[in-house]
Amino acid sequence: MNRTQLAGILSQTTFSDEDIVQLLGLTDLEDCRMLKDEAFRRTTELMGPYVYYRGLIELSNICTANCRYCGIRKANHAVKRYTMTKEEIVEQAVWAARQGYGSVCLQSGERHDEKFIEFICECLREIHEKTKSPLLPNGVGVTLSLGDQTEEVYRRWAKACGNPESIRYLARFETSNPELFHMLHSTPGTNEKNLEHRFECLRALRRAGYQVGTGVMIGIPGQTLEDLCRDIRTFQKLDVDMIGMGPYLRSEGNDLEALGQMEPKALMQLALNMIAVTRLVLGPVNIAAATALQAIRDDGRELGIEYGCNVVMPNLSPQRFRKGYQLYDNKPCLEDEPTHCASCLESRIQSRGREVGWNMSGSSRRYLRR
Ligand code: SAM
Repeated sequence: MNRTQLAGILSQTTFSDEDIVQLLGLTDLEDCRMLKDEAFRRTTELMGPYVYYRGLIELSNICTANCRYCGIRKANHAVKRYTMTKEEIVEQAVWAARQGYGSVCLQSGERHDEKFIEFICECLREIHEKTKSPLLPNGVGVTLSLGDQTEEVYRRWAKACGNPESIRYLARFETSNPELFHMLHSTPGTNEKNLEHRFECLRALRRAGYQVGTGVMIGIPGQTLEDLCRDIRTFQKLDVDMIGMGPYLRSEGNDLEALGQMEPKALMQLALNMIAVTRLVLGPVNIAAATALQAIRDDGRELGIEYGCNVVMPNLSPQRFRKGYQLYDNKPCLEDEPTHCASCLESRIQSRGREVGWNMSGSSRRYLRR
């Protein structure tokens, strides 16, 4: 493809699978710059100038699942397990609200026991009560990222958050290729995952009234550009409101080490291309710059913003818990406290031509239009 053909594809508003695969595979510096500029332009046009903060609270690393890529999978006995107390979780959410964060994301390993489900309800009720203010009359926005659950559990959590119109959930389907999904999740005997079931969970979340977020890992061993194209088509089919995706990174505690990982520079470019193409194809959805981008390059999240992201998820987990939540190697900011993460980020965002959407929960425009 020459530059004129590339410019032609970038000026389109609908894209064939062939266009998508070609854009995903760009490697030439000038070609990638053209893709980046168009994705940034479309993001400004569709989403405005703001980048929204979702303060990430990694509340527990206890997990019943054994996803082979993940450093906190159940079978990794080297991990010291923790669960933050309700007071610690609420304190972080209140801190975030006072700093002007419009929303927080509660994430943890996957658990289904009643004690955990009720614990989340209690945290949500208290966060709602304690974060209401003139600037946030409904309290801080909440995104949950707590894995596959039943519709009834999703409904209980939505009710407990006190603000059911603004509740969100993030559950990546990781890859839309069923064989690859099976390879990633097939550890016999432990809460083995099923791709169809994850799709069903996403549909249940929609029925329960959530803004629905999903995503994939990019650069999984064996994954092709056609697989990534199918992922984008799946985002479209599911009509999602938010997307959070990042590079697959090896982890000492995972069960895929033998399969290796893409070379970092190529992996970074592929991840950025995937973000940009998703923006072009999906339009007005929220796209988060994953922390995993920052694990490859210090300015990875800023690059994500340049390629079409409009959400970042500063880590609000207290420093003493961070080492216990290492999903992959080189996870950034392990030694930092939330105050440090927040203060270094705003200038980084402004350096890329965006503003922080302080005190705005940043609902997906796709969701608002629905
Ligand atoms: N338990 C919830 C779930 O499964 O959705 C939330 C926690 S889970 C650890 C959050 C995300 O971490 C996963 O969806 C996965 O994409 C990502 N993740 C885990 N291991 C990873 C790795 N080695 N490289 C990149 N991302 C990884």
